[in-house]
Amino acid sequence: MSSSVPAAHLQVRGIHKRFGAFTALDGVSLDVAQGELVCLLGPSGCGKTTLLRCIAGLERQDGGSLHSGARDISSLPPQARDYGILFQSYALFPNLTVAQNIGYGLNNLSRDEQRARVAEMLELVDLAGSEQKYPGQLSGGQQQRVAMARALAPAPSLLLLDEPMSALDARVREHLCGELRQLQQRLDITTLMVTHNQDEAMLMADRIAVMNHGRIEQYASPQELYCQPATPFVAEFVGQGNWLPFERDGQGQACIGGQPVQLSDSRGGMRGRLFCRPEAIGVNPASHADNRFRAQVREITFLGNRCRMSFELAQLPGHALLAELAPEHMPQLAGPEIWVSLPPRSLQVFA
Ligand code: ATP
Repeated sequence: MSSSVPAAHLQVRGIHKRFGAFTALDGVSLDVAQGELVCLLGPSGCGKTTLLRCIAGLERQDGGSLHSGARDISSLPPQARDYGILFQSYALFPNLTVAQNIGYGLNNLSRDEQRARVAEMLELVDLAGSEQKYPGQLSGGQQQRVAMARALAPAPSLLLLDEPMSALDARVREHLCGELRQLQQRLDITTLMVTHNQDEAMLMADRIAVMNHGRIEQYASPQELYCQPATPFVAEFVGQGNWLPFERDGQGQACIGGQPVQLSDSRGGMRGRLFCRPEAIGVNPASHADNRFRAQVREITFLGNRCRMSFELAQLPGHALLAELAPEHMPQLAGPEIWVSLPPRSLQVFA
C-alpha cells in the first residue's frame, strides 16, 4: 500500500465464512482508510454481500477479525458497530412519512433535535420540503435518496451500501452515483459498497476489491486494476481485452506464431499468454513501430464515440482480436489487409 494512504478505519483480517459445506469467504483481508469509498466488485455469488453482512454483524464469520480503528468489533452485535446501511431495495416503511422514516433511528434525540436533523438530511439529499410525503408518492430515485438520508441521519462512522442503485434505471443510476459520491466526500464518511457493475465501481471508488470465489483477487485503484490487472480473472472481469498465446525459442526470444515480439514485461516461462487492451493496439502504425504484424480485418463496428475492429493476425489465423479507436482515426481501408502494432508496454505476460 502506498504511504499516502491514511491509517485504516476498517480492518478486515482473514475472514472465513461457510454455509454448511460451502465456503463463501475464504480468508478475506482488506483495509479501508478514513474517508475512502471502497467497492466490492465481482460476479454473482462471489461473496460480496456475505462480506458486507459479516462487517455489519448481520452474519457471524467462522474465522478472522474485524476492527474499526482500534476497536475490535468482531463479535459485537450490529447495533454496537456504528454503521449506516443501505440495501438495493429501499426498504422504507410505506406507512410512515419521509420524516418518520428518516427519524426512525434517532430515538436518542429530543423531538426538536430530531426535526432539525431530518430537515438537515433532506436538504443534504436535495429533498427539502418532502417531510410529510409518503414513500409511495416519490419516484424510485427519490425513495433511494430518502433511504440514503435515513442511513446517514445517525451520523455513522461507516456507511455500508449493498447494490444501492440496482433497482433504478440507467440514467437515474448514473446521476445518483455522482450525487452519492459527492455526498460521501463532503461528509468524509468511510464507505464500503457492493456492486457487480464495473462502471459504477470505476466511477465512484477510490479503491476496488475484485472478488472471485470468496477471495479478493486484487485490491487497487480503478486505474491500476485496469492497466495492471494482477490475475487473468481481473483482466477479463474489468474491461475488455485480447489474449495472445506466445512461446519462447531456444534463445529465450518471445514469439507470437513464430514472429519475434518485444516485451517490456520479463515475467513468464517458456510459453504463456499475453494480455492487451483493445485501445492499445496500433492500427496502420509507422513502419518503425515495434511489434508490427500483418492482419486481416474481419469486421468494423461503429459505436458512436469509438470504432471496434475485429481482426486476425496472419501468424494466428482463426484467433479473433479486437482493436478500438476513435472514429476519426479509423483508416479508410483499401482491402482487408492492414498492419497493426502491439506496443511492448501494453503487453502483459500471464503464465
Ligand atoms: P450477488 O451479486 O448475486 O448478490 P454475492 O457476491 O453478493 O452475489 P453472496 O450473497 O455473498 O454473493 O453469496 C455468496 C455465496 O454464498 C452464494 O453461493 C450464496 O448462495 C451463498 N450463501 C449466501 N448466504 C447464504 C445462506 N444464508 N445460506 C446458504 N448459502 C448462502
